[in-house]
Formats: sequence, structure tokens, C-alpha cells
Amino acid sequence: MSFKTEAFVLKAHAWREADRVYYLFTPEEGVIKVVLKSAAKSKSKLAGHLLPFSKVKVMIGRGKLDHMAGVHTIVDYKNIRTNLRNMSLASSIAELFLNEDHGGDKRQEFELLSDLFSYINDEDVSPERKLWLVRVFLWKYLSLSGWQPQLDNCQICGKSIQAGQYMPGRGIICIEHNNNHSVSLSEKLANFLKFIILAEWKDLAEISIDNELNREWLRVSQLFYQAVYDRPSQALKLFIYG
Ligand SMILES: [Zn+2]
Repeated sequence: MSFKTEAFVLKAHAWREADRVYYLFTPEEGVIKVVLKSAAKSKSKLAGHLLPFSKVKVMIGRGKLDHMAGVHTIVDYKNIRTNLRNMSLASSIAELFLNEDHGGDKRQEFELLSDLFSYINDEDVSPERKLWLVRVFLWKYLSLSGWQPQLDNCQICGKSIQAGQYMPGRGIICIEHNNNHSVSLSEKLANFLKFIILAEWKDLAEISIDNELNREWLRVSQLFYQAVYDRPSQALKLFIYG
């Protein structure tokens, strides 16, 4: 039995003598592990299409171990592969996908990843802006996986509020419930977060925020990621301090 799917090449390594294992992210099944036989032989045409971070169409033979039966490139994202900074961003995102499955809708995650990689690949987008877009991506990605912050009602007493404190992993709470774990959340940031989680990428392209709001967003993002991810990862360090 075999099936065709689109996929992102997240990672690959040599396996056995001449084979190679690929970790693909697919809109149907999330991350899957697929073996390419005899990849090391110079004649392997398939390997040439399985470049890191590229979007491909693959034919996969199902078995005890899935194997690659056919592949062609849909988008190469050459500027990701050939620029260290871009590659480091893309690797960090790939690491998140490889480490953990948060159970979000894979089709939506796939589209989100397509959009983000297009921006990282775009030479007209500045490195600072790319990092900014990766932060947006994380809020969108985690919101898809059930971590969407609740920002309209206090998560403790239920009162409708516009500003207050941010309770990590949950959302907004009234100032009077303030504790060691929460930080202040301005109305401006609450509105900004609500906007980026739902906005189309094209509507985000024009957005810029002032330094003060950016600092507040960074602080809240740090708490958000830490609430979701138990262990520290390269990715999070990069997104928080990069
Ligand atoms: Zn309250």
C-alpha cells in the first residue's frame, strides 16, 4: 500500500549502510519517519529532492518502516538552506515539531508552517522582522493546539476586563488576583494578542509596534512558552532572547 502527500522535510540522518531516514511533517499525520533506500549512492535521484526545509510531494510505501517511493520538490526555500540565520530559525521551528505533538489540527499547522517558511525564505524581509514573525507564529501555533489565551474575561472571577494581569498559560486576570506568577497586561497588549492570533499573515505584514509594547510582548511571550514547554529548548532561547 502506498499514499501520496505533501510534506516538509524537517530532518534527515544516515541510517544503516547506505540508507537515510527522513522526518517529514505531513498535513495528514503530522511527523512521520520515512526510509530512503540506498540514499548514499550518487545515483539516488530522490535524495536530491529531499533538501532540508523544502516542501515536497512524496509517494510513501507503507510497511513496518515507511519507505520513500517517489518525490518531487514543490518549494525549495533555497534562502533558508543557504543562510545561517534563516536556517537557525527554521531549525528551531523544526525542533518544536519534532519534539512534541500538541495535538493541533495538522492541516492548519501545515499551512502555518508554509506561510512562515515563505517569510523566512524572503530576502526582502529583515532578520529582525523574521524573528518577530516567528514569535507571531508561536502564538498562532500554540493557540491551534489548545493553548489559546483567554483575554476577554478574568480567568479567576469571570469578570469582563480589558487589562489586568497575565496568568501564564491561561490568560487575563484582574489586578487584585495578582500573584508571583503573573505580570501586568496592558489593554494594548491584550488587543494585540487577540489580533495576531486570528489575523491573516497578509494583515500582519503592515503591522509594527512600539518598543514599549514589544518589550511587554516579549515578557509575556516568555511566560507563555514556559507554561507550555516543560523543558528548555534551543528554540525557545532563540525566540525569547534572539
Ligand atoms: Zn477577576
